[in-house]
Amino acid sequence: TATGPNSEHSASTTQNDTRITHGEQRAYQTSRYKMQMNSQRRTAAATRARPAALGRRALRVCALNGGERPIAGSRVLQAPKYYQNSGLVDSLGELVKDMFPYVSRPAIITWNRGSDDSERLVKSFPDGALVHEHRGECSRQVVEDVLAMCKAAGIDHVVAFGGGKVIDVGKMVASSINAKTVVVPSVASTDAPCTGLSVMYTPDGAFDEYVFFPKSPDLVVVDTQVLFNSPLRFTVAGIGDAMATYYEARAVMRNPNGVTLVNPFVFRPTLLSIAVARQCAETLYEHCEAALDAKKSGGPLNKSFEDVVEANILMSGIGAESGGLAAAHAIHNALVQFPESHSMLHGEKVAFGTIVQLIMEGDEEEALRVFKFNKMVGLPTSFKDLGIDITDERLQMVAQHCLSPDSTMWNMGPHVTAEQIIHAMVKAESLTMVLV
Ligand SMILES: [Zn+2]
Repeated sequence: TATGPNSEHSASTTQNDTRITHGEQRAYQTSRYKMQMNSQRRTAAATRARPAALGRRALRVCALNGGERPIAGSRVLQAPKYYQNSGLVDSLGELVKDMFPYVSRPAIITWNRGSDDSERLVKSFPDGALVHEHRGECSRQVVEDVLAMCKAAGIDHVVAFGGGKVIDVGKMVASSINAKTVVVPSVASTDAPCTGLSVMYTPDGAFDEYVFFPKSPDLVVVDTQVLFNSPLRFTVAGIGDAMATYYEARAVMRNPNGVTLVNPFVFRPTLLSIAVARQCAETLYEHCEAALDAKKSGGPLNKSFEDVVEANILMSGIGAESGGLAAAHAIHNALVQFPESHSMLHGEKVAFGTIVQLIMEGDEEEALRVFKFNKMVGLPTSFKDLGIDITDERLQMVAQHCLSPDSTMWNMGPHVTAEQIIHAMVKAESLTMVLV
């Protein structure tokens, strides 16, 4: 997977290629954390910086180089158009037609072609669609393959129906061909539906990088009945991902150099993003129990479940993207290097990361609150729960990963040390022994 500015499409970059690349019509812009330092539009300040110094200053340089980029330091809010109700998959084709009267060639990327929901969704496009089933990782190779198919068929809108990885493939493909992006989550396991970024993995499941798009998906359609019928574990994992949102956005707001996840990586949160993140946590604390009870007992779908879905998908997405990520996701991304973590879902790892972050911040009260909440909903609170064997060497590996240049850990401030991270992880692990 190759490329550079002259390539046909800039989605693909080699592992070592840290240039920012643009599609021929600028329709497709991606950026990565590391690109902030080493892009075609690189700033003089960043160019002068020694490569070794970039890591620790990646976030700071971005937040401080307002003189180089007029937009740096601006407050930002990014959000998609969002519909949520039960039964929406049956009218998806109509909703898309209403919103984009000029598109005519849909591609539907679905997680399971044979499922009832998928069939109903496909049927809602009366003039037919290119249907592609995708399972497995969102990797460069997968994106290349689907992209080639969509280009050959002249696709002008891409509907991604599935979990985070299907959605990430859909966003990558749609952005590459400047098609409209329509996201329909089949599970409430992450905030992927509403964010303008994809998480790339290597074919064997290790975290590769974040890829950022210039905007949110064009339309997000959430059918709550589909999510109500989905496996419980996914909803619970989504709760773990969503619960991190407020604490991470709070950390970004507290750090004057903290930046959001909006492309490019130079913006401050709005008060609205923080309010959304706070509402997300409040909704989860208040409604998870009733929502999960309804789900476990097989229904009916209640208002609490609707509220939790909005927290998992909409509030978590806006709060994370326009509020910013911090230690909880940095810990998650570091844990992904251990193969045994691959059987755990994104939000399950993040849920443990949230406890670690709160301990790092010295906020023991909230750390305990999240700990108890995780226990109540069935989320991990320790390496043991995550099935990860932890040794001194591995704690070091996690800490070092968190201190890498493109880690969201830098939103915690410029003075984070390996010792601090390791201490917090050890303390988080001991909570389980003391309290359970
Ligand atoms: Zn997340």
